[in-house]
Amino acid sequence: MAYQTTNPYTNEVVKTYENATPEYVEASLAKAQKLYKEWRNDPVATRIPVLHQLAQLFRDESDSLAKVLTTEMGKLFTEAQGEVELCAMIADYYADHAEEMLKPRAIETIAGEAQLENHPLGVLMAVEPWNFPYYQMMRIFAPNFAVGDPIVFKHAAITPGSALAFEDAVRRAGAPDGSLTNLFLSYDQVSQVVADKRVQGVALTGSERGGVAVAEVAGKYLKKNTMELGGVDAFIVAEDANMADVNAVAPRARLYNAGQVCTSSKRFIVTANHYDEFLESLKAAFGSVKLGDPMDPTTTLAPMNSKKAKEKLQAQVDEAIAGGATAYFVHDAVASDGQFFLPTILTDIDKDNPAYGKEMFGPVAQVYKVANDDEAVELANDADYGLGGIVFAGSAESGAALASRIETGMVFVNTFFSSLPELEFGGVKKSGFGRELGQTGISSFVNQELVVKREHPNDDETGGLILPHKF
Ligand code: NAP
Repeated sequence: MAYQTTNPYTNEVVKTYENATPEYVEASLAKAQKLYKEWRNDPVATRIPVLHQLAQLFRDESDSLAKVLTTEMGKLFTEAQGEVELCAMIADYYADHAEEMLKPRAIETIAGEAQLENHPLGVLMAVEPWNFPYYQMMRIFAPNFAVGDPIVFKHAAITPGSALAFEDAVRRAGAPDGSLTNLFLSYDQVSQVVADKRVQGVALTGSERGGVAVAEVAGKYLKKNTMELGGVDAFIVAEDANMADVNAVAPRARLYNAGQVCTSSKRFIVTANHYDEFLESLKAAFGSVKLGDPMDPTTTLAPMNSKKAKEKLQAQVDEAIAGGATAYFVHDAVASDGQFFLPTILTDIDKDNPAYGKEMFGPVAQVYKVANDDEAVELANDADYGLGGIVFAGSAESGAALASRIETGMVFVNTFFSSLPELEFGGVKKSGFGRELGQTGISSFVNQELVVKREHPNDDETGGLILPHKF
């Protein structure tokens, strides 16, 4: 049984689910396609009330929705509540702004009166990960619902309860049947849905491995796609950084969501003048976290999402140490059978180390020492990925100048990395392509249809150079 809820704190198997039958998949696609044809003629405004209603529902039911997340993938209940609120913000934002974002854009041209109109593209297939089970869904649902693209989706095998809770919330918010349909699909079934001629777009958030597999099928069938993949984001501590700010932000930038964030700071790149102080401070912070029941408000570090994920991370850390890295700090063991990973700080990772440039998806910090800011940028760019990043520097201006030199999709200067409804999210290199959220995100699965109009054909004053010859 692939789809299963297992509480990673108690190890209790809560529920298992059957895969979708071929008949259910077919009926879901047919329903979505029918809705697309209807939506094609409806203005964006007709869908807006549902998004406000969905935001309200997320706020009204915050605790029960949050509990589903904590039970399924272990995150702190307080972090789960934060995720629910962020979802409400996203739904409200697209309710408030989608009409303006999707309005036609006039183009000045000698051809006539021209405009780009934003029409829905068709049914979308979304493939989503477990680390923010609702937020990842809302990121793709809210803007595309406003556009008028119905969605069928496959959620991660370990978060089926979140998938159902999200689908149910959308239905109860008043979205028409077919707006969003959860499908418990095998990988082969995902390929079949992507290949289906009714599906016009594919959005995946997940690992490089998952992205390669799904993008290959999308490419084969010429389906437009966005890929939001992994990262080894740099956290640069520049020569003139304010260390009080750095020390306040760095531990949280790594440990939030038990370190399981695509944009977690996975590589701390610290200039030599700050290196010793940085390590001491990070060690003190990592040492003070309290691992425990994620429902307990005093717990500050949750278990990882699954036994499998914990074992994978342990193998990566073991390999790193065998390859010459130093375990500068490992948190004291905890008396629990929960899937806890002890916060760890690795140093002395050279370029030959198996951990160099590899994503470690959990509470493990890699810390690198560099001579100066130029070396910091060089090391940040020596990576196959380019998703996010953080820079701490003496001023916003100088930090932004360093940020612009990093080959990555998003950088925050002198502050936390955060995802908000209005900010474009996405990366470059093996972190994927395309953007979710923001103006670029809402335009991802839109048919930008060019319409040029005039009362009569234009005169050909160019002697047939640009317009067709007169006969
Ligand atoms: P994953 O294994 O790629 O899983 C993500 C989703 O893809 C799941 O629904 C998974 O289904 C599905 N999937 C994987 N391989 C597939 C295939 N061959 N065919 C069809 N579907 C497939 O990712 P993960 O390791 O669980 O998630 C963590 C990764 O996601 C990290 O690398 C993280 O950085 C990245 N991430 C990126 C972003 C972003 O916005 N860029 C955000 C969050 C996470 P199953 O669960 O059934 O395997």
